[in-house]
Amino acid sequence: MIRGSIEKLGFRFSDTKILLISHAHWDHCSGSAAVKELTGAKYMVMDADVPEIEAGGKVDFGRGIKSGDSAASQYQPTKVDRVLHDGDEVRLGDTVLVAHLTPGHTKGTTTWTMKVADAGKTYNVVIVGSPNVNPGYKLVNNALYPQIASDYERMFRVMKSLPCDIFLGAHGDYYGMQAKFARMKEGGPNPFIDPEGYKSYIAEREETFRAEWAKQKAAAR
Ligand SMILES: [Zn+2]
Repeated sequence: MIRGSIEKLGFRFSDTKILLISHAHWDHCSGSAAVKELTGAKYMVMDADVPEIEAGGKVDFGRGIKSGDSAASQYQPTKVDRVLHDGDEVRLGDTVLVAHLTPGHTKGTTTWTMKVADAGKTYNVVIVGSPNVNPGYKLVNNALYPQIASDYERMFRVMKSLPCDIFLGAHGDYYGMQAKFARMKEGGPNPFIDPEGYKSYIAEREETFRAEWAKQKAAAR
């Protein structure tokens, strides 16, 4: 699918120079080994997610368990070529992406920002990593990820500080991709320019996190 999408945009898949992800979960990185092998792209990953990527998803930090036999969440261990740190820039030609550490969902979940120019205007783009607390995530007494809850708090602080005109994310359902794409094809203003949608999405996700955290703290007492 990735190869097909790149080629549909008129590029050669083999020209891929840099491979970036949002976080070390299989649905975002299990194709990475194949992409590297087919294109020779340099794989760049946020520092705190590197051990998980290079181990092929052996530990589920959120649930606080070793994945063990649950092969479903594992993938081919993949060598990282450049370790990224919070605030690092990734450049290709005139394009500059900034890697923001927004942890919690995984230790190294990354939110990408960039600026794009269109018709004389410059827009701030935010590509959300993940603000989600998955089912089964342990926010209290998590031996494999003791600071998980304070990491979520840090992530929400970062998210609220980022200027956002164009709201994108690691899953289309974060930002209503299908509905916005349908509206875009009808013409009119670009629906992906959605600063208010970004703010209300982050606010709703933070409320959901805080409710789950409160519930788990009460149950642990
Ligand atoms: Zn995930």
